[in-house]
Amino acid sequence: MAHEYKEDSSTAMRRVALPAGETVPALGLGTWMMGQDSRKKKEEVAALKLGLDLGMTLIDTAEMYGDGGAERVVADAIAGRRDQVFVVSKVLPHNATKRGTVYACEQSLKRLKIERLDLYLLHWRQSVALRETLDGFEALKQAGKIRHWGVSNFDVDDMDELLSLKGGDQVATNQVMYNPKRRGIEFALLPDSEKRRIPIMAYSPLDQAGSLLRSHELRAIAERHSATPAQVALAWTIRRKDVFAIPKASREDHVRENHGALNVKLTAADLAELDRAFPPPKKKRPLEST
Ligand code: NAP
Repeated sequence: MAHEYKEDSSTAMRRVALPAGETVPALGLGTWMMGQDSRKKKEEVAALKLGLDLGMTLIDTAEMYGDGGAERVVADAIAGRRDQVFVVSKVLPHNATKRGTVYACEQSLKRLKIERLDLYLLHWRQSVALRETLDGFEALKQAGKIRHWGVSNFDVDDMDELLSLKGGDQVATNQVMYNPKRRGIEFALLPDSEKRRIPIMAYSPLDQAGSLLRSHELRAIAERHSATPAQVALAWTIRRKDVFAIPKASREDHVRENHGALNVKLTAADLAELDRAFPPPKKKRPLEST
């Protein structure tokens, strides 16, 4: 049975600082699987608009999602209020040469109907040299087409290599999978990122609404807080000051519920219980991804 929770519309959005000093909301909006079915577009746009109204003013998208369809959904959601939104998109690795990165970004901007991205990420690493992608990001920055750049699905060794390159220290974030069930990054990537002051953008913070949300432990904690398992998962994921999360919801009730996670204050006992149910890593594990 779904748990009842009280929504407080005055809930203040927590914010996370990027290395350049600017802050972004600790809870944003994901868009994977959006823009694939035109019959769902209205619902998806409405869900994103509601999220923006509630202060979840960071939208994460990618050229890959729905083959550009998700960016078109985002265009409708941000129309008339672009300045209130921190827009993130991603370049596919096989497009990420210097010229390819610039071209892919220009196509994303057209679909998004905006002049500039707030943050542009390399979706994951493949065979193109990082130097090429960095040169593309730099060219885009100089042309005023992106404000910040970052990476996604980068493990410790990838970050080391990136930071060894000239200009690599301009990286604004690393977007990786993180939720109570996927804690591998806590062994090395998260502490390393903290030392380097590179915040982590947590994707799949609800573990894609799989067994995590049905777990006995999450339900028990949720009940104590008059909250829902999804809210506990989100509150846990953003419990640190250097992690922000981008839950995806195409249903308005899910967006409202996710926003309510800001009111859930997990106690030391809750955290210990979650550690027992979902133990932190004791050794380095390969980076998890979807
Ligand atoms: P997620 O946010 O963990 O889960 C999304 C699923 O949870 C959807 O099926 C959604 O349903 C459902 N949901 C949302 N709120 C809920 C709630 N309160 N209660 C129950 N179910 C709820 O998974 P994700 O989409 O994989 O990750 C989030 C975002 O991260 C993506 O959309 C994308 O922007 C980004 N991402 C990036 C990468 C990468 O490689 N960089 C990989 C994966 C994801 P409805 O849609 O029906 O509301």
